[in-house]
Amino acid sequence: MFKKILVANRGEIAVRVIEAAHELGISTVAIFSEADRGALHTRLADEAYCIGPAPARQSYLKIAAVMSAAEVSRADAIHPGYGFLAEDPHFVEVCEASKIIFIGPRYETMVQAGDKLRAKLAVRAVGVPVVPGSEALKTEDDLKKAVAQVGYPLLFKASAGGGGRGMRIVLDESELLEKFRAAQREAEAAFGDSTVYIEKYLPSARHVEVQILADQYGRIVHWGERECSIQRRYQKLIEESPSPALSDEMRGALCDAAVRAAKALGYQNAGTVEFLVSGDEFYFIEINARIQVEHPISEVRVGKNLIKEQIRLAAGERLGYSQRDIKFQGHAIECRLNAEDPARNFAPSPGTVRIKSLPGGHGVRLDTALYDGLPMTPYYDSLLAKLIVHGQTREEAILKMINALKRFELEGIVTTRDLCLEIVSSSEFMAGEFDTQFLERRLREP
Ligand code: ADP
Ligand code: ADP
Ligand code: MG
Repeated sequence: MFKKILVANRGEIAVRVIEAAHELGISTVAIFSEADRGALHTRLADEAYCIGPAPARQSYLKIAAVMSAAEVSRADAIHPGYGFLAEDPHFVEVCEASKIIFIGPRYETMVQAGDKLRAKLAVRAVGVPVVPGSEALKTEDDLKKAVAQVGYPLLFKASAGGGGRGMRIVLDESELLEKFRAAQREAEAAFGDSTVYIEKYLPSARHVEVQILADQYGRIVHWGERECSIQRRYQKLIEESPSPALSDEMRGALCDAAVRAAKALGYQNAGTVEFLVSGDEFYFIEINARIQVEHPISEVRVGKNLIKEQIRLAAGERLGYSQRDIKFQGHAIECRLNAEDPARNFAPSPGTVRIKSLPGGHGVRLDTALYDGLPMTPYYDSLLAKLIVHGQTREEAILKMINALKRFELEGIVTTRDLCLEIVSSSEFMAGEFDTQFLERRLREP
């Protein structure tokens, strides 16, 4: 097992990884930017190193700075969290060259998963259904041929895209060329790769994903599915498990397909296979080669700590249990509490956080790096806290969530709390009837 892990991240996920490592008897190293001096993760870790100025490019994304902290502290492994360097294959290569274990999938898997189009072709080859669409589009001629097959409405996607960015809907031919060029430009600017492709746009689909976990000896299990259809701008806000939309038969088929997809990529460690579900059909969209923000709703149902599993498996341990040994318990829901103003199109809401009250109690979990007086700076992601509840039934989980959200009281900043409260109390949410357009529709027609 590792002796010392460096956590190449900040915020709630850094706190979570540090605590998981300590539970395994492993010491920890935090890194922080000048904007994060005094942040919770720096106080919880055994050692902490400042690696540069506030902008992420000069600190959390700067591989040389992260690696020198790892070398100075003699860390034998790095956990990347999510975001920042978590999906950068080059970072994995650098870790390997420095003989430091990267806690995550192999380099080859990261390259394949990072190229959404390539991942789609790889899983289609093993019989996993994918959203109908095109290959990489280079010329207008390629585009016209592909559109003739796929039809409208369609979606442009960046092959290197992520975080809900790089997507554009096209309703008809009049906007096709203009949006094609814009999508290519945007992809080049945001991801340094102008490769785009089209997919049939599925207007009333649900986003359902499967957590998978694989050791280095070929054993793969899934930890069930997560329903993530409550989104704004293609980004998740509320997630739950199990999905209220799936029959047992479809759940079985979806989870099997996820395991097959992971096998096709020679997957190791934790990952998420994302699907769109439309009627009785499901389609693969991508695989995220990292720990996901919403992983706790799977943990509470399985009764295991996914970060500890990631660390164990990266150290070369065997999974030690099979799919049959996993028993799913009850229903879990997560709300993302972001420092954002829903009334101002989710603009970040900077300020100094004052805590009035925080939720807790049976089946209530708050994953956060929050403390009284925390400055919310404009430099990083606006995620403040993840509120997770676990109930025997979906109804119980919803009631727990309503109580817990009411007790999440902060001053000094605007958060997504009230919006989450409104959604989980709505008749549509209670009935389990929503798709990926639910929140955008609701915001348009309150
Ligand atoms: P999840 O599926 O885990 O909810 P998200 O898409 O919300 O994942 O992204 C998780 C984190 O990673 C967020 O902090 C998001 O801003 C960041 N992220 C994901 N992909 C990218 C990307 N390609 N570029 C920059 N940030 C990204
Ligand atoms: P990212 O890499 O940014 O996470 P995804 O491909 O996972 O991108 O898509 C993010 C979200 O965009 C999905 O959860 C869904 O809401 C929407 N989406 C993606 N593909 C389609 C599609 N073909 N039709 C309709 N909505 C889609
Ligand atoms: Mg995605």
